[in-house]
Amino acid sequence: MNPSSSSTGPDSKGKVWLVGAGPGDPDLLTLRAARLVMGAKLIVHDGLVDPRILAMAPASAKLISVAKRRSRHSMPQEEINALLVSEALAGRDVVRLKGGDPFVFGRGGEEAEAARAAGVAVEVVPGISAAIGAAAAAQLPLTHRDAASVVSFVAGQCKGLSEQNWAGLAGHGRTLVIYMGLANADPIADKLMADGLAPDTPVAVVENAARPEMRVLRGPLAGLGRLVADHHVVSPALIIIGAITALEDQRIAMAVEAGA
Ligand code: SAH
Repeated sequence: MNPSSSSTGPDSKGKVWLVGAGPGDPDLLTLRAARLVMGAKLIVHDGLVDPRILAMAPASAKLISVAKRRSRHSMPQEEINALLVSEALAGRDVVRLKGGDPFVFGRGGEEAEAARAAGVAVEVVPGISAAIGAAAAAQLPLTHRDAASVVSFVAGQCKGLSEQNWAGLAGHGRTLVIYMGLANADPIADKLMADGLAPDTPVAVVENAARPEMRVLRGPLAGLGRLVADHHVVSPALIIIGAITALEDQRIAMAVEAGA
């Protein structure tokens, strides 16, 4: 990842690395991501990147935050794209560090397109997306031969929720993972019940997955809004809908029925 020493020609450009930082725990970085962070001169990161990961960068590295967490000031996407391109064109390698995986609700596609359009080389380093990290940390198997053979990831933010067609994504034998759905928990539950899901469909909310302060809350779909409000759930959090969120309960129930 060293920029070319030549000052003219295409080789004098830097490269944009779209790097997944995973859900939080630095141990969940890929080795490639860790190497890039530890060797970085310039890191452009969003608000979801765990401070412990940023602390792995050399003291001399320049860190630019383009924080994108809800209700905080954030840089518009076009400006982020322009920043990545201008830094690379000026000959600097840019480590663009994103929470989770860059290509799962991370706008990595847009940044890659902007870089390519400017003739800047891009490399993508996958990260553990929040759904995968939350599943592991909360021990919720997203698929399970007894409970789910389909898993879907959707974005549940307010804008465009009503236009999204989730029919068939949740229900018997399926797991639905909703990113960015916290502020919309009530309308999400209503939408799914209008699609035919039973009000007692099991749901889990995983807050701060793979971080020391992780919380896992469970309840029925009809009570999702209340669950989030009563426990003051904060971002980042995922909503997971389906029988796999209640496997423990089912095992206990089966054991009780069997007289164990
Ligand atoms: N690219 C990211 C997702 C970015 S969208 C990824 O692959 O994970 C931001 C949403 O991701 C948040 O609103 C939240 O729903 C989810 N998220 C990210 N990190 C999380 C974490 N540690 N715990 C729970 N949810 C998380």
